[in-house]
Amino acid sequence: QKFVYDFTEGNKDLKDLLGGKGANLAEMTNLGLPVPPGFTITTEACKVYLESGTEPVALRDEVSAHLDALEKQMGKKLGQADDPLLVSVRSGAKFSMPGMMDTVLNIGLSDASVAGLAAQAGGERFAWDSYRRLIQMFGKTVLGVDGDLFEEALDEAKRAKGVTTDVELDAADLQRLVEEFKGIVAKETGRDFPQEPREQMDLAIRAVFDSWNGDRAKLYRRQERIPGDLGTAVNICSMVFGNLGPDSGTGVAFTRDPASGHQGVYGDYLQNAQGEDVVAGIRNTVPLADLERIDKASYDQLMQIMETLETHYKDLCDIEFTIERGKLWMLQTRIGKRTAGAAFRIATQLVDQGLIDEAEALQRVTGGQLAQLMFPRFDDKAKTELLGRGIAASPGAAVGKAVFDSYTAVKWSRSGEKVILIRRETNPDDLDGMIASEGILTSRGGKTSHAAVVARGMGKTCVCGAEELEVDTKRRRMTAPGGVVIEEGEVVSIDGSTGKVYLGEVPVVPSPVVEYFEGRMQADAAAVSDEAAAAAGDELVQAVHRMMSYADGKRRLQVRANADNAEDAARARRFGAQGIGLCRTEHMFLGERREMVERLILADTEDERDEALGALLPLQKADFVELFEAMDGLPVTVRLLDPPLHEFLPDITELSVRVALAEARREPHENELRLLQAVHKLHEQNPMLGLRGVRLGLVIPGLFAMQVRAIAEAAAERATAGGDPRAEIMIPLVGTVQELEIVREEAERVIAEVEQATGTDLRLTLGTMIELPRAALTAGQIAEAAEFFSFGTNDLTQTVWGFSRDDVEASFFTAYLEKGIFGVSPFETIDKDGVGSLVRAAAQAGRATRPDLKLGVCGEHGGDPESVHFFHEVGLDYVSCSPFRIPVARLEAGRAAA
Ligand code: PEP
Ligand code: MG
Repeated sequence: QKFVYDFTEGNKDLKDLLGGKGANLAEMTNLGLPVPPGFTITTEACKVYLESGTEPVALRDEVSAHLDALEKQMGKKLGQADDPLLVSVRSGAKFSMPGMMDTVLNIGLSDASVAGLAAQAGGERFAWDSYRRLIQMFGKTVLGVDGDLFEEALDEAKRAKGVTTDVELDAADLQRLVEEFKGIVAKETGRDFPQEPREQMDLAIRAVFDSWNGDRAKLYRRQERIPGDLGTAVNICSMVFGNLGPDSGTGVAFTRDPASGHQGVYGDYLQNAQGEDVVAGIRNTVPLADLERIDKASYDQLMQIMETLETHYKDLCDIEFTIERGKLWMLQTRIGKRTAGAAFRIATQLVDQGLIDEAEALQRVTGGQLAQLMFPRFDDKAKTELLGRGIAASPGAAVGKAVFDSYTAVKWSRSGEKVILIRRETNPDDLDGMIASEGILTSRGGKTSHAAVVARGMGKTCVCGAEELEVDTKRRRMTAPGGVVIEEGEVVSIDGSTGKVYLGEVPVVPSPVVEYFEGRMQADAAAVSDEAAAAAGDELVQAVHRMMSYADGKRRLQVRANADNAEDAARARRFGAQGIGLCRTEHMFLGERREMVERLILADTEDERDEALGALLPLQKADFVELFEAMDGLPVTVRLLDPPLHEFLPDITELSVRVALAEARREPHENELRLLQAVHKLHEQNPMLGLRGVRLGLVIPGLFAMQVRAIAEAAAERATAGGDPRAEIMIPLVGTVQELEIVREEAERVIAEVEQATGTDLRLTLGTMIELPRAALTAGQIAEAAEFFSFGTNDLTQTVWGFSRDDVEASFFTAYLEKGIFGVSPFETIDKDGVGSLVRAAAQAGRATRPDLKLGVCGEHGGDPESVHFFHEVGLDYVSCSPFRIPVARLEAGRAAA
């Protein structure tokens, strides 16, 4: 096994082995670019060290061999007294971890060689300053001395001399400081600063290895979900100096603007300085364009190199460089980070330049970036006052007056006020209030709580589970940590992308990308060049438009919407939905209709029940007519009633109080009492596993028949009117094929009746949700009675993990995430190994029974980027998600297929 690679030996594809920095230094070296010679110690060596506590045996000799070669090439030896070779020792992991790990410059300087450096380069002051820097950096990062001790000594030296900047210290001052620094090292570590150059180097290498497990690095990796066992490479690079005078300097550059994607000269330059000075912000940099005036030859060479790098990497690169006495050196390059907007623009620009094709362009953007571009956001330049933080449940930026109940939300919004609905948690009764609000804030509940799911469905901003905010709905106020009290009517701002809650109004900027999807902004696929795009309208919109058409051209998955009304359906269609994958009919029974359901539940006699059903039928039918019209020609999957019945009844505690009060006051209360008895009867300890879904249809006679009749009659009405309705009837929470068979028989009878009565051939299909483990495990049998499966991954995740979808995210998921048990909530991204493997197996078993079985998914995962790739891979026909996530799903489906 080889542990050391010369820069001439590696290449950019060896990031696992050489780290990002080392791989790219090698790549640049091999491109013939001016990289100071050096070599890289592999991550494998680091791993051996981390596992065993010592460097691999072969490492020392390999380093010696490479150091020999380097010394020969440079014509001087490391730390040689009369003309020392100096090197930098830098960390460089596979994923960049900015500022997290160690670097030591000027290795090789010692009491013996400092005079030689002075004579050969830069003079006395420069040499002593370099030595001072070495002891300081080495002392702090390698020997673990408190950095403040050096800083204090440096400040004291300046104070004693009556100056304010380092530059005003002369060679003698710095020489004294070196002695003092050496004293600090001796005192703090009980040993002298190592004078032997090779020992300096070996200790620095070991320090870089150790820094992989530093606290900062570990924390960063956890946040960024970088595996903890990759290890870091170490780059040993001959030093070049940007601080040798006005003809030297150092800078950073981007091959295009990381904020806008525009090509041009972007970067900063600092004359007569070393890299650390730029990072430390010690002196003001000048724009890179000024380098043309300062050193035209280097500038021209840099521009040419930047072009070479862009053409070679076919992407935006960022660069660190140094100029030493008029000679340009490249110290680092990598694919540059960029804003979401720039990612889209750059991808299309590179296609136009012929550097990448459409498939590659799709890999350069993500659904997450598109989602970012779609939400209005708070102006990041604005001043803000943070009240607290919750779960970022539905992105966006919302500002309004605090209201603590839905009634007030509706009333105030009718009179033109913008409001934020603040609740401990929401329930179906809050729907009107949620619709009337700009955004929703709750102190309880997770990402699949009622507030979160409904808000996402509406594309409304939501922060949920902000537990540090105490919501007191009775007194209409909220208390933030520190005792700040927000009364009803006070303005708050909530950021659904970060979960932050602010006091007062934070200014908001709208998203042009949504304006485009809504059809309020023009886009033109023919606008292929940058200039044409700019002329046709907003450049970002043109780029998004083109990327969407690439994705649509490539994807195999269809994308449908979860939508329950004509308005959402119409929007979904504008956003590119190819049908409705889930219409939750329970959402049609809210508001004023709730009482009709109440009557159905409370019916004592068959007549009463038929009457209640009869009253619901025309309303349901009218809903479906509208929905089929909005989705004319496209499939609409209507799911029969799912939630537990008690959700339609009043709250048990409130009702008990009412009954008790009425009793005490001796007021008539027979109705309340009856209601209370019914509520008690239906009350379940575990409603999610209780009387819901298909179980309801089997227990309440006539309920599913009424819904099927409404669907069939609506379809017949649309067909007769010349429309093209394509309804699909879906049965929820099926666990065994027998349940489905019973419902199916009844449904087929009703449909036949309607067809006969209306003289139509409706071609309704009947299918089921697969959202219980038993359904997935017996999918082969269930497919006998189902023409399609739609995976309900919300309930499937809940039941496979045994996690209550309404509770766990706000209770213990934070602890789970911190412990790394999973990187992301399984309610957000499909758990491939567990839930996912059931989906895969059920899809296969279903198709084995019925080869033309249509397969989709309608849980929240249908709009999650990573999950979309998984559903593509297991061969589903479509994903279904809330209207606002449709563009993201289209893009990701395209990326998955590209
Ligand atoms: C599901 O369980 O994934 C699903 C789509 O149904 P609901 O969220 O309505 O339970
Ligand atoms: Mg479900």
